[in-house]
Amino acid sequence: MMWSIHNHLLLLIAVTCCALFQPLHAAWISGEEAIMGTKVSVQLWHQDKSQGEAAVQAVMEEFRRLDKKLSPYIEHSELALVNRMAASEPVVISEEFYRLLETSHVYSELTKGAFDITFASIGHRYDYRKGVKPSDSTIDTALPLIDYRNIRLAAANRTVSFEKPGVRIDLGGIAKGYAVDRGIELLQQRGIGHALISAGGDSRLLGDHRGRPWHIGIQAPRDKERMAAMLPLVDNAISTSGDYERFFERDGVRYHHIISPKTGRSAGTLQSVTIIGPNATRTDALSTSVFVLGAEKGMALVNRLEDIDAVIIDEDGEMITSDGFTDAGSQ
Ligand code: AMP
Ligand code: MG
Repeated sequence: MMWSIHNHLLLLIAVTCCALFQPLHAAWISGEEAIMGTKVSVQLWHQDKSQGEAAVQAVMEEFRRLDKKLSPYIEHSELALVNRMAASEPVVISEEFYRLLETSHVYSELTKGAFDITFASIGHRYDYRKGVKPSDSTIDTALPLIDYRNIRLAAANRTVSFEKPGVRIDLGGIAKGYAVDRGIELLQQRGIGHALISAGGDSRLLGDHRGRPWHIGIQAPRDKERMAAMLPLVDNAISTSGDYERFFERDGVRYHHIISPKTGRSAGTLQSVTIIGPNATRTDALSTSVFVLGAEKGMALVNRLEDIDAVIIDEDGEMITSDGFTDAGSQ
């Protein structure tokens, strides 16, 4: 009898201690994996280690799901299917894929065609790792295929079709940002209030870093070891597009992965563009777009958009910031 009361008391004390000291177990939990051809990292604050780790895994799983759907390199991805079929007949696609195509269309219109997922009609002929590029005559012949108006969307039966044979699409300029947003949504659903998800150059922050801002670096384009700037950010998304991510050099020319839809060749003269905004789909699409538009037109667009700020590093390595930049930096 005595034993039992004693045990109950001990148990009660143990339970009370646990309840009192639970916040002490709260911690930063992180994970990192290679998905979508890039490094995906998640960092979050959670009261419970195993729930925190499960949340990290849920984000990674979401990235893997989207990679399977959107990758141009996976034979049975929805994107690869569309590229194979849509020039011959309308293809019924998933709601999610349809929405992404609609969003891409919005950015094509907003940027007067600088953002254009049909860049892939020529883009797929580059292999940056192997140093392969299409010939001038191949580019000239295929150039009319690059035009987002070659994509026909029909909402009534949720189909996509291409106007011309040879048109191809690639969501590489927006998919990582979209995946980051989806990951953040999953964390919000789990009640998480402080987190960072980043996929290569696209990141989004949930809340602050517990009492202070997050600090996100802008890489120095010509020196991997150095940051050109550190930005204090809270509850924001940030994307960087650079000519140093995927490229090769031939005869003094840098061939990189951001393609000007007007020329079918690597875009412009900038070294990098960083966009800060409310969500990563938007910052991802706009960082690619502003890179294509160049400093003058790109910054004019950014300064027209109230929710967007930008840091451009131009061909001389000089930093140019948007009108509202100091405000964004000090949030
Ligand atoms: P980011 O690093 O976000 O700028 O994305 C670069 C990727 O966007 C490239 O690897 C291509 O997959 C894709 N891309 C290249 N040029 C364009 C373009 N003009 N419009 C849309 N996406 C593009
Ligand atoms: Mg982008």
